[in-house]
This record gives sequence, structure tokens and C-alpha cells, in this order.
Amino acid sequence: MKSYKEALHNAAEVLAQADIEEAVNDSWLLLQYVTGITRSEYFLRPDTTLSEVQQQKFFALVEKRAEHIPLQHITGMQEFMGMNFLVNKHVLIPRQDTEILVETALELWKKQSVGVDSEQNAVGQNEILDMCTGSGCIAISLAALAKNARVSAVDISPEALCVAKKNAENLCHGKVTFYQGDLFAALNEKCKFQMIVSNPPYIPSADIETLMPEVREYEPRLALDGTEDGLYFYRKLAAQAGNYLAADGWILFEIGCEQADDVRMLLEENGFCDIFVRKDYAGLDRVVGGRKVS
Ligand code: GLN
Repeated sequence: MKSYKEALHNAAEVLAQADIEEAVNDSWLLLQYVTGITRSEYFLRPDTTLSEVQQQKFFALVEKRAEHIPLQHITGMQEFMGMNFLVNKHVLIPRQDTEILVETALELWKKQSVGVDSEQNAVGQNEILDMCTGSGCIAISLAALAKNARVSAVDISPEALCVAKKNAENLCHGKVTFYQGDLFAALNEKCKFQMIVSNPPYIPSADIETLMPEVREYEPRLALDGTEDGLYFYRKLAAQAGNYLAADGWILFEIGCEQADDVRMLLEENGFCDIFVRKDYAGLDRVVGGRKVS
């Protein structure tokens, strides 16, 4: 049987040959997944040998990764905001970029929300809505981290909601209320929110074919495709969100890095004020937000 070190070396070669960008790191993550070892255990004893079962499993998974199946579909997990989210082919794999949206929401929430007993508050005061929730990563992070927030989340896909509900049970005691349906049609007209957040599908249809195979072939098209110009969901949401926001409520979108001007304009056209754009850690435009005029 091979040692951890040999197995890693062989796996990294297989993955590099298959043009996997992070060949070494992905090999390590698969080894960790199969054996459960930590990095320090590995460095203390790199010559430990794998059991036969571990070795077979490890190289079978390396083969899968070599076919460009996303690592997260193999391990079934992705970390987001320090929590481990279950993922499968029915949900978009949570991206680190999206943490900027959550952090922006949390900062505004702190400033806006006094965190008093919701019974005494105005309509919608403590309510947050995550539209197009997918794995539930945004809604669940906010339920876990935004003080006194009551979080609702909508998705059109029942399969995605199944994943999101499991994540909510695992990560925030099921504290999110989920609704299935097409955007606001999923909700009662009388619902009001203090904040609406959304990372909707925003890739222009024609661009999907140019994405890496991991995304293009394995992530749900429903979660990627923003129609012809990529702006379909921003248009719909910007037009309708006002009806569901409490006075002074915020809408926050994650955007593709070239969409800031278009989305800003959509918010302006629909009467939002205090519009801002925030960049991600790579310096690219990533979040656009605006406030409903009271
Ligand atoms: N809100 C989810 C996420 O940010 C899903 C987004 C989507 O499906 N477009 O990961």
C-alpha cells in the first residue's frame, strides 16, 4: 500500500494531467476526506500507509475529480462564513465572494436594527428575506449572525430547498422559514421585510458555455443563467422589491463584476436611494445596495 505522501504525489500528478487548477490542494483535500487526517498529523507521519480500502476509495475519488466533477460534489460540503454547508448538484456551490454580501448585510443590520423585542417594532422590522436561496448559505448565515433577525428564504427549486432545509437544521436550529416559488409569487402579498438580499443567477446565457467545466457541466443552470443579458432577476426584483420592503428597508444584491452600473441604474429607476457599490477582496464590484425611500 502507498504512504500518504506517495498517494498525494500520485494524485497531484493525475489531477495536473487532467488540467485541474488546484491539483495539489485538491489531492490533499481528498486525502483528508478519505482518511480524516489533519495537516499536522500528515506532517508528523507522512509515511503512514493507507489501508487497502482507503487507497481504493482515494484513487476512485481522484479519478472523479480528474473528470472535472467539482470537489464539493465529491465531498458533499462547502465552507461558507465558517460553517459547513451540504451541497449537491441541485444547488450553486457557495462562493467566497458571496461572503461580502453577507458581511455588508450584517453591517447594515447592526446600524439599522436596534435589536429590541420584535413585538414592539414596526411592520417588517426584524424580517430579512433571501431571494433565490439555493443551498441557503446567505439566509442561514444571517439567521446565525444577525441579531434578532427573522429570516425567510425563497427558491423556485424544491430540490434546492431540500438541501437548504437540511443546512438550516444543521447550522441554525432550523431558524429559517422557506418558501417554494417563483420570486415574490412565493410570498403572501402582505409580507414586509426590513432587508432583502439576493444572489440571483446573473450569468448571460451565452457566457455559460465559456465557463470552466466544473461550473458549466455540473452546477445547476437554473442557478447560473440570468438570461440574455444576465439582468433578468435584477430587473424583476428591483421592480417588485419596493412592495415587500418596510419603510427605509434595504435591498442588497450580489452582482457579476461588470453589472454594477446596470444594477445601480435599475435601483435608481425604481426609486431606491443611498445606492452604493461594494468591491470584493479581488477589487471587483460585487455588491450593489439601495434603500427604499420612506
Ligand atoms: N443564494 C445562493 C448562493 O449565493 C444561491 C444563488 C444562486 O443559485 N444563484 O450561493
